[in-house]
Amino acid sequence: MTELAESPLAAGDRNLSVDEARAAIAAALRPITDSETVALAQALGRVLAADVNSPIDVPAHDNSAMDGYAFRGSDLQPAGPTTLHAVGTLFAGAPWASIVGPGQCLRIMTGAVMPAGLDTVVPLELCRVEGNTVHVEAGVIRPGDNRRRRGEDLTAGRPALQGGRVLKPSDLGLVASLGIAEVTVRRRLRVALFSTGDELRTLGQPLDAGSVYDSNRYSLLGALQRLGMEVIDLGLVRDDPAALKATLETAVAQADVVLTSGGVSMGDADHTRAVLASMGEVAFWKVAMRPGRPFAFGPLAAANEPAGVAPPCWLFALPGNPVAALVTFYAFAREALLLLAGATPQPLPVLQARCTTALRKRPGRTEFQRGIVERAADDGWQVRLTGSQGAGVLRSMSEANALVVLGHAQGSVTEGGLVDVWLFDGLV
Ligand code: AMP
Ligand code: MG
Repeated sequence: MTELAESPLAAGDRNLSVDEARAAIAAALRPITDSETVALAQALGRVLAADVNSPIDVPAHDNSAMDGYAFRGSDLQPAGPTTLHAVGTLFAGAPWASIVGPGQCLRIMTGAVMPAGLDTVVPLELCRVEGNTVHVEAGVIRPGDNRRRRGEDLTAGRPALQGGRVLKPSDLGLVASLGIAEVTVRRRLRVALFSTGDELRTLGQPLDAGSVYDSNRYSLLGALQRLGMEVIDLGLVRDDPAALKATLETAVAQADVVLTSGGVSMGDADHTRAVLASMGEVAFWKVAMRPGRPFAFGPLAAANEPAGVAPPCWLFALPGNPVAALVTFYAFAREALLLLAGATPQPLPVLQARCTTALRKRPGRTEFQRGIVERAADDGWQVRLTGSQGAGVLRSMSEANALVVLGHAQGSVTEGGLVDVWLFDGLV
C-alpha cells in the first residue's frame, strides 16, 4: 500500500478531472496473474496470458496465389511473347513430384504448392491457351509474381499473437492455422456486484409508493458480461451500515473487484464512508464531469488480512442515477477492469462527428451526452442528442448508439461543429 502514499488515492476527497481520475486508477492497479488453459473454441474474448509463438512457417510452402500456369520466371521473354508447353495440372493439397523443365509450365490451382524450380504464376486471364501451348504477352507478368512465399504470413518461432491480447474471431482462426488447439489465458476477473438503496425493489416485488426497480444491476451485469468478467451478483443492499459492511465482506472474500451503485452521494456518504474507512483506503472523488459525480475508488482488505499482504479487492462505487452509473462505468471502470484482467490497454476509437445542434458547455468539466450517430447526406458522420439528457433518464442511454464526449477544456459547440464521439460498438 505504500506506493499509494503519493497517489491521488491518499488525498481523500479531491476534485479531479476525468483524465486525472483515469490516470490515478490505472496507476494503482496491477493485473491478476493466474491463468488457465482453455480449448480454442472457448477462448473468444479471453485475455491471452503469454505470446503464442508460431511452431511452423505459414504458409508452410511456397504456393500459388492464383489459378493459372506456373513456370520459371527466367523463361519470360522481355521483348516478345513467351510460349510455354503445359505438361500437367496441379491441384491444392497434391504435391508435384517430377521436375518441370525450362520452357514448360503446369496448370496450377490457388494454394497448390509451387513445384521445385518454378517461381512465377501467370493468371489464366492473362494468357492465351491453344491445346498444350500457353502464350504470355510481354510485360503482363514479372518473375516471382503470384507466388506466396513460405513463412510470408508467420515465421516459425516468432510470436503470432502477443500476450495481453483480447482474443477476437480472426485470432482464433490464426491460432488454428498454426495447428494449436488450446491457449493459455488469464482466469476471468471476478467482480462482485450489488446495488444500494432502501427505495430499490427487485424484479418480481410490487412497486410501492416512492420505490423504483433496481435497474443498475442489470445494466452493469450486461456491461460486465460484455467484458468477459465473472460476475458474483450480491443483489440489493439496504442503506444500513451493518448490511453494507456484511455484504462488502462477502464480496471481498471472493472477488477481485466490487462494483456498487448508489450510496455515495452527499446524503448517503457519511455512513458509507465510515464503513469503507474501516475496510480500506477508499477515496471519494468529486470528478469534474456530468453526469457522474460522486464516485469512490480504492482498495479494500479482507477482514482477516492485514492490508498489503494479498492483492487488494478494488472498489468502484458508482453513483446511483442510472445514466451516471453507466457513464462512470465506461469512463473509469471499463478500462480498469480490462487492465486488472491482464489485457493490454487499447485506446478507445474516438470518432469525430458534426453535431446537428448547438450545445451549451462550460469549460472545466467533461460532459457525456447521449447521441445517435448516423451517416449524413454528404457521407460524413453526424450526431444528434437523444431526448432528455437527465442523469436518471435511462431511455436516453438506451436509444443512443454513442456518447458525445465534450472534453474538460472545451466550451460550447456551435451547430455543425465537430465533437468527439465514443461509439457504443466496441465500447459496450
Ligand atoms: P444515490 O446515488 O444512491 O443517491 O441515488 C441517486 C438516484 O439514483 C436515486 O434517485 C436513486 O433512486 C437512483 N438509483 C440508485 N440506485 C439505483 C438502481 N440500482 N437502479 C435504479 N435507480 C437507482
Ligand atoms: Mg441511494
